[in-house]
Amino acid sequence: MKITQSEALFAAAKKVMPGGVNSPVRSFRSVGGVPPFLVRGEGSHVVDADGNRYIDYVLSYGPLLLGHAAPMIGEAIKKATDHGTSYGAPTPDEVTLARLVTSLLPSMEMVRMVNSGTEATMSAIRLARAYTGREYILKFIGCYHGHSDSLLVQAGSGASTFGVPDSPGVTKGTAATTLSVPFNDLPALEKVFAAKGRDIAAVIMEPTPGNMGLILPKDGYLPAVQDLARRYGSLLIIDEVMSGFRAAQGGSQSLYGIDPDITCLGKVIGGGLPVAAYGGKRKIMEMVSPVGPMYQAGTLSGNPLAMAAGIAALTWMRDHKVCDTLPERCAVLCKGLADAAAAACVPVRIHHLGSMFTVFFTDKDPMNYDDVCACDKEAFKIYFHTMLENGVYLPPSQFETNFISLAHSDEDFAQTIAAARKAFAAIASR
Ligand SMILES: *Cc1c(COP(=O)(O)O)cnc(C)c1O
Repeated sequence: MKITQSEALFAAAKKVMPGGVNSPVRSFRSVGGVPPFLVRGEGSHVVDADGNRYIDYVLSYGPLLLGHAAPMIGEAIKKATDHGTSYGAPTPDEVTLARLVTSLLPSMEMVRMVNSGTEATMSAIRLARAYTGREYILKFIGCYHGHSDSLLVQAGSGASTFGVPDSPGVTKGTAATTLSVPFNDLPALEKVFAAKGRDIAAVIMEPTPGNMGLILPKDGYLPAVQDLARRYGSLLIIDEVMSGFRAAQGGSQSLYGIDPDITCLGKVIGGGLPVAAYGGKRKIMEMVSPVGPMYQAGTLSGNPLAMAAGIAALTWMRDHKVCDTLPERCAVLCKGLADAAAAACVPVRIHHLGSMFTVFFTDKDPMNYDDVCACDKEAFKIYFHTMLENGVYLPPSQFETNFISLAHSDEDFAQTIAAARKAFAAIASR
């Protein structure tokens, strides 16, 4: 496989952008090597600057539910572009997308559009603090909610502690109001609530975490978290930036019987353009400016091209029942991968939900961040690079989730499983 163009571009990129990228994971730091510089997407495939084609399971880290260059989305964007690219004024499409979202996720009675998942979660916690008059936020270790200061806190693994910043530049003062506990550990959560419950403005969580690989909640865990939050008067913020329209059409909240106060969406909602949203119960959302005092704004929020793309993506998804067909296809692919691993005697645990999955290199079912940290990272590196050399483009970390789209065919899956056989054989013979 020739990669001379990508090599030259990566060298040039590193001179003008930190790590040669605009978002860290793209630089392949955890697996090593040169990231392919992509020039084109075609359905289930991406094409790099050297002309190599790959089956893509990154899908822009989630947004592309309908695949690359989906014609219904491209047409909607082109049509919007003909009329101008931004007004900074209300538009009919904002009403359409807001109505679509509130109909698909009934817990969201009102919604505010923003430009990124980071903005959605940052605004949601400001709203929760404004609404409750409390300062503390509780999050779960290994859950990612974007890069705003209060949420760049993970705390020590294992025990619940006061927050320590995950990044220089986040002040101790900011981190100190973020508490964190391990996912899937109800006693740890009860302990923090017993100590600090009356000061906790909100619990923020990925219901089915996807940023430590895909982790699934234990039976009854999510309703128990909700009950605990309610008992102490804390709001429940469910971050479905990844799981929304991926776990199920109504998000993970529709699968696990929870009714969040605030929900954050992103990724799929914009059909590949920068859109995210936060929304929830009317009486809480009426705190948001200009109705209420909680200030939040955006020059390009509700951008007409982005609204057109989002409407096209969600309408197609709903009308063609995409979220009913993809889970079964994802399960078939995962079964093929599991069989290939078993045949090579490589221990893996594969989690899948909706159109998302992760292959964990471990013999113990991962339930939280510590379990994922214990996975065999060297095995993952071999897997990743063998797949790439055999035309399969995966997220470059054990801590990421893979995605399938409507464009992924049976042939794609067969080719992927064939590549995985080679990868598992390489791991077994190391
Ligand atoms: C991707 C992601 C975010 C951040 O969204 P950006 O658009 O990258 O800022 C927040 N929460 C979750 C669960 C995500 O997966």
